[in-house]
Amino acid sequence: MTNKVIYPGTFDPLTNGHLDIIQRAANMFDEVVIAVAASPSKNTMFSLEERVKLAQQATQAMPNVSTKGFSGLLVDFARDEKANLLVRGLRTTVDFEYEFGLTNMYRRLLPGLESIFLTPAEEYAFLSSTIVREVAIHGGDISNFVPKVISDAVKSKVSP
Ligand code: ADP
Repeated sequence: MTNKVIYPGTFDPLTNGHLDIIQRAANMFDEVVIAVAASPSKNTMFSLEERVKLAQQATQAMPNVSTKGFSGLLVDFARDEKANLLVRGLRTTVDFEYEFGLTNMYRRLLPGLESIFLTPAEEYAFLSSTIVREVAIHGGDISNFVPKVISDAVKSKVSP
């Protein structure tokens, strides 16, 4: 069995904080699958296909990282992938409460699925996709917070 982990999220869009977690996971495990959730209840800036493509482009230099989109339950995706480990990022105590609840639910839905939590470098502790979108919508420069391919895509989305 390979040492495979799934890193799930909406990634709308993927930020340098996400990349930091992906790099840490890629250093620790044989294979990292970025699982981009359809998240139909979120009014996303980018479609699922766009988010998958951007995540792929942002991680193309990482040989043991791949990206897949999924809709429906994460536990079903994990079962299909034959993976029993999830990686989640913890920024502050605010994330902790939410993540703790999610983990307990995943355990009920799929016993044996374990979650591990990684913290990013401190400069990313307050970085979120929401903040990146807000700054960009109001004309701010996001190039220090996301990979170049993503800042280009966000710019053309907000001012086509
Ligand atoms: P979700 O819709 O699941 O919250 P996100 O794309 O916002 O999806 O986040 C995916 C995962 O990445 C979550 O575990 C989240 O806590 C984590 N994350 C988001 N931003 C950062 C960051 N700046 N540093 C570390 N982890 C992060």
